[in-house]
Amino acid sequence: MTPPGELFFSIDHLVDKLVAAADRHTLAKLIRVSRSLYDRVSKPLYTIVTIWEDNVDQFMYQNNKAKAKTANSDSDWTDDDQPTTSPRKTKRELLSHMRVISIGSHMSSACESYAEVLKTYATNVQVFRFVQTPHSSAPCFQFCERRLCPFHLCFRRTHKLVFRNCFCNKLPIPAAWDLDKATKDVVVVLPVYLQRYSGRDGTGPHELAHSLVGQFGTARNIKVVFWPDWDNSIPAVNQLGDINAIDKDEPMFLDVVANVLKSACYGPGACAKPLVTIYGLETVKLCDTTLAYQRSDGPNSPVDLKKPPTTLESPIAAKFRKAYPNKDPDDLHSIVRQQVGGQLEVITMFKQAPDGSAQGMRILGSCQVQFKTIEEYLGSLSKGNGEISEWD
Ligand SMILES: [Zn+2]
Repeated sequence: MTPPGELFFSIDHLVDKLVAAADRHTLAKLIRVSRSLYDRVSKPLYTIVTIWEDNVDQFMYQNNKAKAKTANSDSDWTDDDQPTTSPRKTKRELLSHMRVISIGSHMSSACESYAEVLKTYATNVQVFRFVQTPHSSAPCFQFCERRLCPFHLCFRRTHKLVFRNCFCNKLPIPAAWDLDKATKDVVVVLPVYLQRYSGRDGTGPHELAHSLVGQFGTARNIKVVFWPDWDNSIPAVNQLGDINAIDKDEPMFLDVVANVLKSACYGPGACAKPLVTIYGLETVKLCDTTLAYQRSDGPNSPVDLKKPPTTLESPIAAKFRKAYPNKDPDDLHSIVRQQVGGQLEVITMFKQAPDGSAQGMRILGSCQVQFKTIEEYLGSLSKGNGEISEWD
């Protein structure tokens, strides 16, 4: 007589339902039960993968116990001290299933060797997601201790790049960085709360804005999405507090929002530019005055708290009201749309090599820009256009 457990696993439609309903933790256990379950579970388990500081070694080495075993053990690697060059056949198969990969902040210097493995064996990745890991309700950890994280090697053939948990810090890529020709879609998800743009010593999101200028020029579409929550696909985020309700109501100075958005709307001056779609601007609370604190030594130096702040009225709003006396002067979202969607002045910027050296100049001009509501973004995701539910 067939034992009850084996009988269950011999009935295909029952196993299919089990695999479809199982979470990742369960799938990770099922994959070790039998060869037949391995064949059914490996693809759903490895199609969407999230790697971050706490699990990068475990993911690449399998686990610490396996690491201590010999090359004849069930480790995924032929030599646990040299995992970077020669994963076992089973691990190579698993890596080949990867289609969406999220990489969180990590300080592990091993990312260089891990990236080589992923570049070699994770050859079907279509969506690469940078997920900076939040360490509180507002800022995030730096993405990588290296200036250009070697994991960039992994997304050279990806169709889509996604930057999640952006805040006042710069994007984890060099200035005027060359997107691979295969990458057609770029999604940059921006916060909606003032605290997440405040920057070091309250200097604001200058670094974020600067790192957006002229990037992704060879893409077909750039989506900029205002989204209220951090991406919580990294488990540590669940332990963090949310922004206080009272702080969620604090509006952002419209010039700051307009300048960040304008930075995302520059493309190469002389050839076809990407279409930039900005979603959810209407969900951002705006104001047209701000307190201007004096700084001890230039615009990026610390605020001098001994000197009282002055009230600064928005230069962008003042210019708009003068140019369009018949339009609603208090519709601040329209002022931002006009500022961002209009013709931007042509600018030049230095292209930067990964080591920080300059590599010639780029001439940049405005891309075509359209605005859509957050409902339109969500509607697009629910139609299956998003790769992994709400976490585009
Ligand atoms: Zn790295």
